[in-house]
Formats: sequence, C-alpha cells, structure tokens
Amino acid sequence: MSYRTLLLVVLLAPALLLGGALALGVTIPVPQWGRDYVMRFIVDEAQVPPDLPKIDGPDDPSRPLVVIDAGHGGRDPGASGIDPQGRKIDEKDITLAIARAVRAELLKAGNIRVALTRSDDRILPLGHRPEIARLLDADLFISIHADSAGERDDVSGASIYTLSNAASSEAAARFAARENDADRLNGIVISGQSDAVSTILVELSQQRTQEEALAFADLVLREGSNQLAFHSQPRRSAALAVLRAPDVPSVLLESGFVTNLADRARLTTPEGRAQYASVLARAIKVYFARRATGAAAGE
Ligand code: ZN
Repeated sequence: MSYRTLLLVVLLAPALLLGGALALGVTIPVPQWGRDYVMRFIVDEAQVPPDLPKIDGPDDPSRPLVVIDAGHGGRDPGASGIDPQGRKIDEKDITLAIARAVRAELLKAGNIRVALTRSDDRILPLGHRPEIARLLDADLFISIHADSAGERDDVSGASIYTLSNAASSEAAARFAARENDADRLNGIVISGQSDAVSTILVELSQQRTQEEALAFADLVLREGSNQLAFHSQPRRSAALAVLRAPDVPSVLLESGFVTNLADRARLTTPEGRAQYASVLARAIKVYFARRATGAAAGE
C-alpha cells in the first residue's frame, strides 16, 4: 500500500464508519451545545434499572399486589394552582398525599400488598413507573394525577384513563402530550420516542391485560359515583407512557382540577383525600375479590 493510499484510508475511515453505521440504521448520539455551553447527551433512562420500593402489607407473595404511582415529583411539579390563601398548589404534592392515603386504607384490609413508586418528593422517570410494577410482579397499577385548566375555574371532575393506541379526543391527546413530556425536563430526553409509541401499539395486543384495566376503571366509577365528582365523560383512553406495562392492568386516575374550587377542596384536605382513598380501596378490593372467584371457577 503506497503512502498516499494509506493516507487516503486514514482520512476516509471515519467517514466510511459513520456512513456504514447510518446505512445500518445505527443512531449515534451527538452531544449538543446548549446556550450555556453545557454538554448534553441523550440519555436512555430506560436502560437504568429503577430502584424497587418496599412492599407493605402481608409478608405473603401469594397476596395480590397493587402498585400506586404518585404522579410527578422532585423538579417536576406537574400541574399547579393557587389556593384561597394565595399559596401555590403543586400536583406532585396532591398525588403523593392521595397515594399515601390509599396505601393506608388498603393496609387496614390486611390482605392486600401495596407498594408506592415514590413515597417522597423525588423525580422518577416515566419509564420507571410501570417498570417498577412489572419487576415487582404487581397485579394492578394505578397512577394518580391531578389536572389544571389554566385560567378556567369552571372545568372540574375526575376522569379515569386506560391505554389507547390513538387518543380518544383532542383533550386526551393534549393531556397525553403533557404527561409524556415530563421526561423532557432539564434537557434529558428519552431517545426513541417513536419506538415507545410503536411498543405501546404492540402491547395493545395484550388484550387480557387491557380488558382487566377497563374492568377496574369501571369499578372506580361505580364505587366513586356517590363520593367523587366525575367529569361528564369520565372514561378516557390515551397513549400514556405510564400505562404501557403489557402484563400489569394499569389505569391513571385524573383526580380533579386544582383550578376548580370544589375539586381543589377535595384534593387538598385530609377529608377529601380520605374520599379518594376509600373509593379506590373499595374498587381494588372488589377487583381482587372478583379475580379470586374467577380463578376458583377455573377461568
Ligand atoms: Zn400529572
């Protein structure tokens, strides 16, 4: 090989490697220069396994396990509103308080195991939330959220979401976009978003899981009909990343609007939280009781 050919190879090698990688469909993360000249890398948080929370309740793996997910947390406050005293209300605090109340209510029953995806004010990647339920081999996953209607104080009521391949309405699509956006904070972007969406579509074929999620959503509406205020169209479906566990029936309770007076009172007081807790605990108990009788009948 002549010196000139060698030089050509050395000069062309990086380009050939890059071209080859691109031709093979390999994506190469490229550091981006932010305005503040801090290097940012695309981090695939799904590759980092989540810390598993402790499981409360009976020390018996044969007992059903429900994972309750308090939406948002840490530097991600979620939706916000202002209380009558002028104090800021963050969704992350509401969801954690409700999650804790549901856990306390369920533990009274004594035969259901409970784990919270987070039990303090910390950030938790969206992907970790359903993954925790899967790794713990949970039987049910409930994500708790609250909403904001911005300047409008007349929008109110709880909704319950299950996974869909297409958002069922424009409002549901906006909600999904915002909730899925929680992973974009501080420059950290989950790579392969379109992969995640196609995974959701594939996972939809897990019909049984989906049917169970729908049955549970119906139970929440039934048990809550006298105690909670639901939106006029409370059953919704959206492509929510947090509901994508293919083998754990999953729902997301949008518990109400922090921007509405009546909803806010329910969301931010111990009495109000007790209502959510008793409704969800009843729905969970009925759900597991039905499943146990179904299993006994050889379903
Ligand atoms: Zn939320």
